Amino acid sequence: MVLKRTYMDWNATAPLSEPARLAMLDALRLPGNASSVHSEGRAARAAVEKARRHVAALVGAEPAHVFFTSGATEAANHVLTPDYRMGRSRLTVSHLYVSAIEHPSVREGGRFNKEQVSEIPVGRSGIVDLAALETALAAHDRAAGLPMVAVMLVNNETGIVQPVAEAARLVHQAGGLMVVDAVQAAGRIGVDIAELDADFVILSSHKVGGPKGVGALVLRGEALMPAPLIRGGGQEKGHRSGTENFHAVVGFGAASEAALGQLAERNADISALREELERGMRNVAPDLVIHGQDVARVSNTCFFTLPGLKSETGQIAFDLEGIALSAGSACSSGKVGQSHVLTAMGFDPDLGALRISLGLTTTMDDVNATLAAFAKISGRRRSAGEAA
Ligand code: PMP
Repeated sequence: MVLKRTYMDWNATAPLSEPARLAMLDALRLPGNASSVHSEGRAARAAVEKARRHVAALVGAEPAHVFFTSGATEAANHVLTPDYRMGRSRLTVSHLYVSAIEHPSVREGGRFNKEQVSEIPVGRSGIVDLAALETALAAHDRAAGLPMVAVMLVNNETGIVQPVAEAARLVHQAGGLMVVDAVQAAGRIGVDIAELDADFVILSSHKVGGPKGVGALVLRGEALMPAPLIRGGGQEKGHRSGTENFHAVVGFGAASEAALGQLAERNADISALREELERGMRNVAPDLVIHGQDVARVSNTCFFTLPGLKSETGQIAFDLEGIALSAGSACSSGKVGQSHVLTAMGFDPDLGALRISLGLTTTMDDVNATLAAFAKISGRRRSAGEAA
């Protein structure tokens, strides 16, 4: 008998949504290069610009301020640079401040030297320490250049929503630039670049039901532009050269449109499913720790520690029961490392943690299957403990 699989790892990647799949199939029939002036080229251009409008709408931005990239990682490497242009003049960003829970694509600091990057701590609640940010900005040497700050809107491991608008206010008071990784927020909570007061927003297609390998850097305005990361033929108004990944861009646009359309309705459903899941898990294991349960979290994520269950063992045990979940971030080429997010929150990462993340097509059956596996695994843990 083939074991039924239950996919509970939507923060790692979302399955391709049906609207994205259909839009991409259509796009595969178009032969043109979006930069060509002939009719075939113009048809491809029209499809790219339609996608740009949908991606812009996802974050309340102007379509002209969306630049497609090969993913959020490239967008981060594009925007995190000391080298900016304002019209014809050059501007230097001399230091990057990143929250300690940023995704590695941001935490690595992009094109800054290591000594130009500092970390802003988070509290035990998993929320960035705004007082520490304020202190760091007050100590910033303005004569050397502008400060830049990166705080993600939603953490990929915990699902905890960060106080980005408050951080942005401090950053702007200090004359700095605010970068927001909204990869795990888009399509899950309303995201508006102006309300967040962000100068730059980073997006990834495959977290909203689009294809992998495409993302976007979104700008608030065009006054300040990062030096291009990829130079060449001048596509994307010279900001990102290389023929657009046309089919993927079209899929990203269609997925964004669908995600935005379903946001309110599906969020309520997903929230109810997570509620059932967490209630069921607590019933089975009263010693369960759910990280971030007392603060604002996106409705789809449950990051938990089950005492006595290591991340790696737990992940394999669930997999053998047919449940795909992960030990926090899935970004380090298959290795189950320790969570830098838990460490930053002051938890002993050796205790281990697992992440269940739900999505658009998750059902109560999926939740029940996960709970059945959870009960088995938790029970084994107890009997092993009793035997010891
Ligand atoms: N930021 C966050 C918060 C993420 O979760 C991810 C993907 N795990 C990325 C950035 C990187 O996105 P991409 O895979 O498009 O490079």
